[in-house]
Amino acid sequence: MLSATDTKPQRENQDSAPNPAQVVISLDHIHKTYHMGDVEVHALRGISLTIHEGEFVAIMGASGSGKSTLMNIVGCLDRPTRGTYLLNGHDVSQLSKDERADIRNHRIGFVFQGFNLLSRTSALENVELPMLYAGLETQERHRRAKEALAAVGLVGREHNHPNQLSGGQQQRVAIARALVNRPALILADEPTGNLDSRTSVEIMEIFQRLNREQGITLILVTHEPDIAQYAKRVIVFKDGKISRDYQITEQRSAAEELKLLPALTDDDDD
Ligand code: ADP
Ligand code: MG
Repeated sequence: MLSATDTKPQRENQDSAPNPAQVVISLDHIHKTYHMGDVEVHALRGISLTIHEGEFVAIMGASGSGKSTLMNIVGCLDRPTRGTYLLNGHDVSQLSKDERADIRNHRIGFVFQGFNLLSRTSALENVELPMLYAGLETQERHRRAKEALAAVGLVGREHNHPNQLSGGQQQRVAIARALVNRPALILADEPTGNLDSRTSVEIMEIFQRLNREQGITLILVTHEPDIAQYAKRVIVFKDGKISRDYQITEQRSAAEELKLLPALTDDDDD
C-alpha cells in the first residue's frame, strides 16, 4: 500500500494546513478548431470550467462532443485555439512543446482506454518509465514503482509483461505508472472502456481510494452512466459545449459493491 504521507501530491503552497480547496484547473472560454484541408471542425466552442483540488469529475457526452479534445488540452498534450487555461494558477495555454512535456511529466498522470503500456517491458519497467524521464535514481525508481504496483494490488506481478496480464491488470499497471511521479491530477479517458463490468468496478475502487485517501484530483471520461456515478461531479458535453454540470448526491461506493460481487482469484481476473 502507498501510505498517505508518502504519496501526497506536492503542492506549491505549503502554508495554512486545512486550506479551502485550491483551484487546480481554470478554463476560460476555451475553443479548439481543427483544420482538415478546407474544413474547420469546431471541437470546443467556449468551455469555461473550474475544478478544485480533491474533486472527482466524470465527463460524459456523445461521441464527437469534444471530451477527448478537452482532455488533451487539460493534459497539456495540445493547446487551445483560443481561451485561457490556468493549471495551479499558471497560464499553460501558450507554452512550448517542451514546457508542456515538463508539466505533463511532473504534474499529470494519464490513464487511457487501451492501457498504452510498452509491450516488451515488464510491469515494473513500465511504471518506472516516467521516473526515468524525471531523472530519479535507480533505487528510488524501483522503490516507488514497487510501492505503486502494490497500491493497485499487483504484488507478485512486477516482472510480468503486458501480454501475461489480464486487461484489468494492465489497466492497474497504467494507473501505477500514472501515480509514480505523484501528480496532483490524474486524467483518465474511458479507462474502463475495454473492461468487463466487475473489472470496471475494481478499477473505479482504485480511483475512489486515490481520490479519498490521497486527495488526488481525478477527471475521467466515460460514456457509461453507471461509471459516472462513482465520481462526485458530472459534466456533460454537447457539440463542444457544456450542457450540464452537477454534483452527485449519492456517490456509488465501488469498495462496497465489490464486497457483494462474487470473488475471483487474481488469475481469472480478465
Ligand atoms: P469525443 O472524445 O467526445 O468523442 P473528440 O474530442 O475526439 O470527441 O472530437 C470532437 C470533434 O473534433 C469531432 O468532430 C472529431 O471528429 C474532431 N476531431 C478530434 N480530433 C481531431 C483531429 N486531430 N483533427 C481533426 N478533427 C478532430
Ligand atoms: Mg474521445
